[in-house]
Amino acid sequence: RFITLEGGEGVGKSSNMDFIASWLEQRGISVLRTREPGGTRFAESVRELLLNRDSAPITDRAELLLIFAARDSHLEEVVRPALARGEWVLCDRFTDATYAYQGAGRGLGEQPVAWLESWVQGSLRPDLTLLLDAPVEVGFSRADRRGDRDRFESEQRAFFERIRQAYLARARQEPARFRVVDADRPLDSVQSSLSDTLEDWLK
Ligand code: C5P
Repeated sequence: RFITLEGGEGVGKSSNMDFIASWLEQRGISVLRTREPGGTRFAESVRELLLNRDSAPITDRAELLLIFAARDSHLEEVVRPALARGEWVLCDRFTDATYAYQGAGRGLGEQPVAWLESWVQGSLRPDLTLLLDAPVEVGFSRADRRGDRDRFESEQRAFFERIRQAYLARARQEPARFRVVDADRPLDSVQSSLSDTLEDWLK
């Protein structure tokens, strides 16, 4: 099984990755935990390039192509072999993030993402996608507490709103794959929803 975790900025993705991984481990399911962009040495270097976009600018199209180059490496070297061995894979962000950030956020549109998705992934899609959803304001204020304020102020609020709406639209289009969890609550109630959701999905 292939599970992905998605969400905008400051929705608590990292703490909830830990929670989901240990929840599954407690039920005897060992998971390979990974992330995108990243997961291989090459893909982690791509991640560095993307995160340093401010000091070494790249075009939006180049960003999209780099993300799929990283994804190809990650899928070939890590994800497909693990799935083929029968392991479960838990990935922090995947192609839904590309639709949200590059397709909607950067305004490249769905079509180039869909082309690259079918070329690079073939028929591979996550079995379950957990979307942590919160109003953009909530992410902004949590990021402030983490000291990321400058990064947020330098970005447009509208950019994050497009990302949120694109994620929600994808969840509506593929209700069988997505579970949307309201992340605008204290961490313990988000986590009890995640438990219920996983319990229900495992049935
Ligand atoms: O998942 P995480 O928050 O660690 O991702 C790091 C950053 O990479 C995010 O803040 C996001 O801005 C960026 N990103 C992106 N496009 C993607 C995935 C991540 O711009 N497809």
